[in-house]
Amino acid sequence: MNAPDGPGAELADTLSRLRRILRGLQSAGLAALPRGTRTEQAAAQAEPVPGSSVEKAEDALRLTRLQMGDCRRCRLHGQRSHIVFGEGSPAARLVFVGEGPGFEEDRTGRPFVGKAGRLLDRMIRALGMRREDVYICNAVKCRPPGNRVPDSHEIQACSPYLFMQIEAIRPAVICALGACAAQTLLGTGSAVSRLRDSVRFWRGIPLVCTFHPAYLLRNPAQKSAAWQDLVRIHRILNEADEVF
Ligand code: SF4
Repeated sequence: MNAPDGPGAELADTLSRLRRILRGLQSAGLAALPRGTRTEQAAAQAEPVPGSSVEKAEDALRLTRLQMGDCRRCRLHGQRSHIVFGEGSPAARLVFVGEGPGFEEDRTGRPFVGKAGRLLDRMIRALGMRREDVYICNAVKCRPPGNRVPDSHEIQACSPYLFMQIEAIRPAVICALGACAAQTLLGTGSAVSRLRDSVRFWRGIPLVCTFHPAYLLRNPAQKSAAWQDLVRIHRILNEADEVF
């Protein structure tokens, strides 16, 4: 029988290459493929397959929120209007972590909806993504009075929720926005300017530290540095796409 030519030959060649890649991954000990491309994830998000990783992530996020309930683990509960849990796709390949809710976030119960949120939206778009493709949350879920930096007791009380959120999603990359998020995830006291010099890791997930959008609004000269951090995130996401 003659070998197919034209589109048929291309398809056969692609399938053969795919089989070789899968056999290589299998022999390297990979039992199952993790979440797929952004398009596949968007489809999965629209209609989670029962028992899929997306449905498990959704369940785990729901459970975390249930566990939080009307949390009073730290004094920040006293003046809050809303707990700002976080929002976005349970299939997100990119999770942004900020510091804590501000005035608008406390009022609406949603993360990053003020001026800083609008800048974050532009950063997300620069990555070729939409806000609903990513997951956005904060190190503490209740607004510190006067937008002060959360203290170590408040961060310690609230960080288990953050860790549960990230574990539920297991994204390809985490972006820590500002010192509070970076230090909470990395357990360090180092400044963002130092932490952004290389890719870090949180429980095996690449972590890129950059400046908080609110800081960038006050210090626009640092936007070019933040841009470099976005390029780094983009590269990590592309590399993850190439592997799978
Ligand atoms: S900041 Fe976190 S730990 Fe503190 S009361 Fe709010 S949800 Fe609970």
